[in-house]
Amino acid sequence: MRLPFHPGVFYLRKTLYLKFILAYILFGIFGFIAVATFVSSMLTDYCRSDAVDRLYREATQIANTYAADLYKSEVSIDSVYRQLTVLSEYIDSDILILNPSGRIVVRSGEKIDPNSEIYVDGFNPTVFADTLYIEGNFWDTYTEDHLSVLAPITGNYRISGYVIISQAQSVISSAAVNLLNISYIMLLILLLLSMIILIFFTEIVYVPLKKITTATEQYAAGNMHYRFSVDSEDEMGYLAAILQYMASEIARSEDDQKKFIANVSHDFRSPLTSIRGFLEAMLDGTIPPEKHEKYLQTVLNETDRLTKLTNGLLTLNNLNTDGMLLQKSDFDINDTIRSVAASFEDICRRKSVRIELVLSGQQLFVTADRDKIQQVLYNLTDNAIKFSPASSSIRMETTEQRSKVLVSVRDFGIGIPKEDQKYIFDRFYKTDLSRGKDKRGTGLGLSIVREILKAHGENINVISTEGVGSEFLFTLPRSPVNDELDD
Ligand code: ADP
Repeated sequence: MRLPFHPGVFYLRKTLYLKFILAYILFGIFGFIAVATFVSSMLTDYCRSDAVDRLYREATQIANTYAADLYKSEVSIDSVYRQLTVLSEYIDSDILILNPSGRIVVRSGEKIDPNSEIYVDGFNPTVFADTLYIEGNFWDTYTEDHLSVLAPITGNYRISGYVIISQAQSVISSAAVNLLNISYIMLLILLLLSMIILIFFTEIVYVPLKKITTATEQYAAGNMHYRFSVDSEDEMGYLAAILQYMASEIARSEDDQKKFIANVSHDFRSPLTSIRGFLEAMLDGTIPPEKHEKYLQTVLNETDRLTKLTNGLLTLNNLNTDGMLLQKSDFDINDTIRSVAASFEDICRRKSVRIELVLSGQQLFVTADRDKIQQVLYNLTDNAIKFSPASSSIRMETTEQRSKVLVSVRDFGIGIPKEDQKYIFDRFYKTDLSRGKDKRGTGLGLSIVREILKAHGENINVISTEGVGSEFLFTLPRSPVNDELDD
């Protein structure tokens, strides 16, 4: 038995394992790209809007407290300056209080001389109308880029000034970078954890799969006795077990086939050798012409045996093909038994063997293939006569059961040793006991019987005691025709 393709033509260029590692590496690379691009820009946006919220809240609070108090002259510029300087250090930003004209009133961290009149040139609060914040150097106030928010200081229903809080962009982006670093670390942890999946995959899937592949290659190369073990109780273990079972079944059927061919060859060779021996002896004069007739009769017997053997093999071969075509009909099994018994009349007379028929009722209909059942009865009766001593009797019996008809063929002959009983239905099997008695037997009769009954979905059993006799019993489906006849 060979597979239709040889695995040699299929090279494992891309193993599952390589693909999995590749997927893992791609997962890592894409993960880093995603963090470096999407996540980075998301974090920058998040940090910016968080800073805007925070700074705007502070600015509004200052506008409503210190700055409002300052404009109501409830606190001194000095005290507001000190408070804002402390606060600005705390929130890492620059805080300005401007008059609507842009004149700096207070600036955190830089004491302004009240008489100096320093302006933010070009200051235009309307740019904050659409947006909560602006980015840039706040009209050249700062050397580096800042994010600035503005809150108006109101009193008596008019704007008396503005609180501006500005934070360097570098402060905001360093917060984003910190968060980004955390994301990288998370990704790294994720990759390490997913390495566990890779290790599990190797242990649970890859190693057993590799064993199974190796075994399959061995089986494909014809080494059906190759054994391996996958000690897991999951699908892999099941697959391995099934595969080994399949291989052992193939090995068994290969062995059976070899045995079968050896048996056939042996059974063909012995008659051929004896035919050849006799013919040569006649030709070279070892057997004198006056004895030719006797030896030619032996040669004829041997050719009969060869014909019987060939016919038996052909019958078995036809029966063996699955779904054997049965031509089922309702027929009287009693009648069939009578006609089989009649066909042995001559042989029985010569051997003084009596066939007793113990049949249930006049007619007993069964549903089966008549010709094939006739062959079954013929083979069983033939054996019964062959293995019975002269002047003994053979009993053929039918018994009606509920939905079956039991048929029995019983003899009082040599019997079958217990240890042989389970083999007699195998092809070519002959018991040692029978060899002396039946030189012409092929050992195919009972296997034909079993195949025919198997095709009918029925069984055959044997009850036998050595030296006492044998009984072969089988059932057939009882035909409904019987009930119609009874009515
Ligand atoms: P064969 O053509 O040799 O009879 P079978 O398949 O019919 O082959 O039988 C197989 C063997 O079973 C026989 O050779 C014989 O040893 C044994 N056997 C079959 N029927 C009987 C029987 N009625 N009594 C004793 N032995 C039997």
